[in-house]
Amino acid sequence: MDVAMDCLFCKIAKGDIPSVKIYEDENILAFLDISPVEKGHTLVISKRAHSEALIDTPPDILAELLAGAKKVGEAMMKAGFGGFNVIQNNYRDGGQAVPHIHFHIIPRAKGRKGPLEWRSGANPYRDDAERDEFAALLRKNI
Ligand code: 5GP
Repeated sequence: MDVAMDCLFCKIAKGDIPSVKIYEDENILAFLDISPVEKGHTLVISKRAHSEALIDTPPDILAELLAGAKKVGEAMMKAGFGGFNVIQNNYRDGGQAVPHIHFHIIPRAKGRKGPLEWRSGANPYRDDAERDEFAALLRKNI
C-alpha cells in the first residue's frame, strides 16, 4: 500500500489502529464511524493508496470505493433500513476532517421523517454492545 506516514485512515487500513469492521477485501475497508450521524454510519476507504480528495484520486480507486459504498448500501437495505445517504467531503473548507478520501454511508430507519442531521455524533451508540449489534447486523447482510 502506498501509505502516508501520519494518516489516521492509512493506519486503520493497515490495521495499526483498530476499527469495527463491516467488510474488507484486497482493495477496500468498510468500518463503523466512531461518532455516528446515525447508528450504523459506515466509512469506506481504500487499502491500496492514499489520496486526499475526490479530484486527487485515480478513477480505478474511485471505482473500487463506489463498489464498496454500493455493497454497504445493499447490506443496509437487506438489513431492513428504509434508505441510506452517501456523503463525501472534500478539503477542510468542504468539511473534510480526515484528509484521506472516504465515503460516508449513513443508514436511515424506515419511515424516518425529515432531512439527515449532518452532525458528528448526532446519534451515539448506548454502549459498545449496541455498536457491535449494528456491526453484526450489517456484516450478516453483506
Ligand atoms: P470527514 O469529516 O473527514 O468527512 O469525516 C471523518 C469521519 O471520520 C468523521 O465522521 C469521524 O467521526 C470519523 N473518525 C475520525 N476519527 C476516527 C477514528 O479514529 N475511528 C473511526 N472509526 N472513525 C473516525
